[in-house]
Amino acid sequence: MASACSIRVRGVVQGVGFRPFVYRLARANTLGGWVLNGEEGVEIYLEGPERGVQAFVRELKAQPPPAASIAEVEINPVAPLGVNEFTIRESLRQKGPTVRISPDLPVCDECLAELFDPGNRRYQYPYINCTNCGPRYTVLLGLPYDRPTTTMKDWALDDYCRTEYLNPANRRFHAQPVACPACGPNYFLCAPEGVVNEGSESIRRAAALLRDGKILAVKGLGGYHLACDALAATAVAALRERKYRKEKPFALMARDIQVARSVTELSAAAEDLLTSDARPIVLVPARAKLDGVAPENDELGVMLPYTPLHHLLFAAGAPRLLVMTSANRSSEPIAYEDEDAFTSLSGIADSFLVGRRPIARRVDDSVARAGVLGPVILRRARGYAPGAVANLPTRRPILALGADLKNTVTLVVEGQAFVSQHIGDLDHYQSFRAFQETVRDLVSMYEIDWNELRVVHDCHPQYVSTVYGSELKVSQRLAVQHHRAHIASVLAERGAWEKPVVGVSFDGTGYGDDGSIWGGEFFVGSVRDGFERVAHLRSASLPGGDAAAQYPVQAAAGFLSQIEDLPDLTAEPFHFPRRYRDALELVRRGVRTFSTTSMGRLFDTAAALLGFTRAITFEGQAAMWLEHLARGGVEAEAYPFPFTGDELDFVPLLRSLVKDRLRGRDIREIARAVERGIAQGLADATIAVARARGLDTAVLSGGVFQNEMLLEDLKPMLENRSIELWINHAVPPNDGGISLGQAALAALAPSTGTAPRKTE
Ligand SMILES: [Zn+2]
Ligand SMILES: [Zn+2]
Repeated sequence: MASACSIRVRGVVQGVGFRPFVYRLARANTLGGWVLNGEEGVEIYLEGPERGVQAFVRELKAQPPPAASIAEVEINPVAPLGVNEFTIRESLRQKGPTVRISPDLPVCDECLAELFDPGNRRYQYPYINCTNCGPRYTVLLGLPYDRPTTTMKDWALDDYCRTEYLNPANRRFHAQPVACPACGPNYFLCAPEGVVNEGSESIRRAAALLRDGKILAVKGLGGYHLACDALAATAVAALRERKYRKEKPFALMARDIQVARSVTELSAAAEDLLTSDARPIVLVPARAKLDGVAPENDELGVMLPYTPLHHLLFAAGAPRLLVMTSANRSSEPIAYEDEDAFTSLSGIADSFLVGRRPIARRVDDSVARAGVLGPVILRRARGYAPGAVANLPTRRPILALGADLKNTVTLVVEGQAFVSQHIGDLDHYQSFRAFQETVRDLVSMYEIDWNELRVVHDCHPQYVSTVYGSELKVSQRLAVQHHRAHIASVLAERGAWEKPVVGVSFDGTGYGDDGSIWGGEFFVGSVRDGFERVAHLRSASLPGGDAAAQYPVQAAAGFLSQIEDLPDLTAEPFHFPRRYRDALELVRRGVRTFSTTSMGRLFDTAAALLGFTRAITFEGQAAMWLEHLARGGVEAEAYPFPFTGDELDFVPLLRSLVKDRLRGRDIREIARAVERGIAQGLADATIAVARARGLDTAVLSGGVFQNEMLLEDLKPMLENRSIELWINHAVPPNDGGISLGQAALAALAPSTGTAPRKTE
């Protein structure tokens, strides 16, 4: 008996070979009908024998194309139209798009095999791709995803590529960026001795330059990299000097997994991340000591080749382990436009390996770690963005602007929360421009009417994102407190709107309800009802405000000013510089001194007391240094960090630290005792709050929880007391996750007024 139905498939289903897959499946089951890309996903009309339709639906769900990700299949029976043939129809266009844009994909095995097959038309062609792999978000100029809306629009297909592009049985059927050496773009090399235009030859020469210890700017998927031989200490040192990047670790690209294994301790979970479709930089324990790559750090950030070009470079003899760092001057956003790259990187790179395919938008490499509580994303960009990370219970479009550090923005369309790629620190003008571009990009891509947008921003009146948000002409605006947004980001990932939890939000800085600098906060509540602040770190002074974050000794002055009978810290063994005395003086006179409960500054204080008395050169450096010290292979009892009912008191902890330091205890042991003490104090406080409120789940978020040792210590402390630990997995625990939390709290807020917030 003939039956007919219409099927709508939502999720990542466009630009991933979904229509040819549907076409083959329909033909295999002798069904008539059609498939097309609609605004909300893929739409299918089917008619034929009942059994065939059922088999079709089963396989559709069970074996979608590798790059697809089905979120929902909606099936509605309809009256048969009498269609016998199955066809692929043109894209449909009507109202605003809610289709998910696919993140970029690494080159697939089939394309790789062709890449190295001398008989293949695309032999050694750096832009080889198919519907299962290749660029997506970084070539996309608009929706729907079609050749004219990509950065490949200026290259016309030749007959060979067109035949493949139009053949539903071919792997390149409607692969929008498809190209071959005859019709597509290629790479060229700009070296001091001249330009090499021929693609393969330019790559061979580039590999030779890397072998010679030269620094190469390489155009990739979402921006330029600076590359050099990671095993050549002089090349690495030169790169540091030219890039003004003193100490921040460089990312590495290993030729293959064996090379990665030879320099790092790869767990099975880390290998899964490393080889996942997102191909992130994975932070893993170092096995080899590589001069200058990651100074005073136990971890190396490694990734595997993900574009055909990377594979070609290694095959052409590039060193097996490369430094592959975002091409920019320190802290500026990654360069992605050719002209900008040539200007900003001249004086850093010796040569440029440039591809002619334009990059639609800047997308950095992602950074992840296989942690003790599961995978954690520390920077969410290439391979993940702009994927939806959560489904929020709202139909209203929401734009959440995030925080000023490690900024991301989130756009909510029909309940789907699309989190942007990592944008960076907005106090840099270039990053602020990137922020504005990203906002406009997302809002126009999804054709959202600005008048209908609910805009959410941080409470910090001086954040540039706040100022930007308050100047937008929109009907609704909402401020969400920083640390509540952190907690909500974890719950949003899990769709837990009602669940009451203990929320622990530890980070460096965030604007509190009382206008002071928060960062060591305990909440109870839910996304729906809001979060009540129930406890916090004991307040300390912060001389110089947020500027103290640059100087651990300046933060230390604020914390130590509360402790009596301190020895002279400018003398042995502390050697605090003059800045410490000046800061103490500010505290004493109450000049430019703020109140803080920042856990980040407590870590800085401990690091200063253990010898980190210089300025930091990147965010979180002192805390990472402390963790590195604590991992020096020693065990130590926790220092006391007592919870008094509404405060965690750091005074006994710092007192013990100073005492041990004076009597000459091994600083690695002291660091271990600090780490464990902080974990124990946090655990005690969480357990006390949970028991008092009858709660069994703790949510941890905020930059401090990038500290893997803290999580390792906490896990048994809390789980042994039957408290479940929830952390971020889809968005970063640092401020990169703030925009999602803001969006979640705004989604559940009443249509006027403020976000759900319980105050003391
Ligand atoms: Zn492929
Ligand atoms: Zn071609």
